Amino acid sequence: MPVAKGKLGNRVVTVLRDTGCNGVVIKKSLVSIDCFLDDYQTCVLADGSSVKVPIAIITIDSPYYQGEVKAWCMEQPLYDVIIGNIDGAREPYDPDISPSVSVVTRQQAKKRDNPYPKLKVPGSIKDVSLEDIEYEQQSDASLSKLRQYVAEGRNFEKTNGTKVNYILKKKLMYREFMSPKVENGKLFRQLVVPEVYRSDVMKLAHESLMAGHMATRRTVYRVLSEFYWPGVESDVKRYCQSCDICQRTVPKGKQVRAPLGKTPIIDVPFRRVAVDIVGPLVPVTDKGNRYILTLVDYATRYPEGVALPSIETERVAEALIDIFCRVGFPREMLTDMGAQFTSNLMSERLCAERPRDWDKYLGPALFAYREVPQESVLFSPFELVYGWPVRGPMTILKELWTREITDPEVRSTYEYVINLRERLESTCELVKQNLEKASRKQSRIYKKVTFKKDEGRSKGIGATTY
Ligand SMILES: [Zn+2]
Repeated sequence: MPVAKGKLGNRVVTVLRDTGCNGVVIKKSLVSIDCFLDDYQTCVLADGSSVKVPIAIITIDSPYYQGEVKAWCMEQPLYDVIIGNIDGAREPYDPDISPSVSVVTRQQAKKRDNPYPKLKVPGSIKDVSLEDIEYEQQSDASLSKLRQYVAEGRNFEKTNGTKVNYILKKKLMYREFMSPKVENGKLFRQLVVPEVYRSDVMKLAHESLMAGHMATRRTVYRVLSEFYWPGVESDVKRYCQSCDICQRTVPKGKQVRAPLGKTPIIDVPFRRVAVDIVGPLVPVTDKGNRYILTLVDYATRYPEGVALPSIETERVAEALIDIFCRVGFPREMLTDMGAQFTSNLMSERLCAERPRDWDKYLGPALFAYREVPQESVLFSPFELVYGWPVRGPMTILKELWTREITDPEVRSTYEYVINLRERLESTCELVKQNLEKASRKQSRIYKKVTFKKDEGRSKGIGATTY
């Protein structure tokens, strides 16, 4: 039914656009006394009966009609206003939904007054010039050995085929690394980072929007994908160990190692997937979400996730269909410790960092998982699914610092995207309370979830072959 909200004076009314009617009908009680014309007309109703009604001139503001119009005033019409086929009436399928016409509800007004909240990435990354890096690279005491290697043109080659050498390119020092064991012998050209900039790099690699507080090994991987300095691994390890968010959300007990790695790999992506639901999460986000549906592909470890306000069968099925529309329909859906592990940890960290709007950061968190190779697979999920590495924040930081990106607009866009987030010191206490509540309330509920099959049978998602 083409029904919309409209305005009659200051009053909000329901408006029906009825193509089976050839005039305008209004509920008599809504018409103010001075609008009545001293006139009556006879209307023929749908059931064939006729009725004599008073006529009034009304001014209506609605998606189907705006302006003054003569209307039949009836005692109990089905809607406050019914707009028939009169001159200037819009078609039922083509309402004018511009804000001046559509009625602004109180909630919408609140939304309009509070503009769309930006992702929290305040504080800017250091805008480092080429000269800054060049100067620091040449004067940093911790890099003296590397400078010597460059001067001597030393090449290092191990018996396992790993090759390392140091070069100067446009006055900047890079480390070139190649190993048959790492991403099929891909050449990594890592910017050598002077001490003053190392914490910026680690911050971006570990706790930025798209870094997702990965464990030490993955954070090291992420740093090394574009950067290098002597002692980088132990620095990153220390950095991760002292991270506040990580400490508060460490996986406890035996869950630490996900058994996903032990399951046989099947080589076709999205044939077998693990599905899990986490929640209810505390607090509910501003959008009303309290669950995360996660899906992890066995072959590539590629994760998908959807925030959900509730977990009725229909809603879960819809979310799954949504995912399947992107990745295809799997042959098997399983509940799996690995998926639980991923989704648990991810949701905990999301909630710890973003108590009121974790759902907005779900995408970046998934990106973090897709970007870094998993334990058992040498390539990142992105590479396994798309066939090439996806440009991530580390690459962008390197390109910003080495001025490979020169367009100021592109620069500022990227800076916005990868900007280091500010520690949410002020919300620490709230976060702590929430986490405690969450750990009390959080329960595994996947067993209750069923996925209806066409023939009406329903099975638990757990170990369902479908
Ligand atoms: Zn962390």
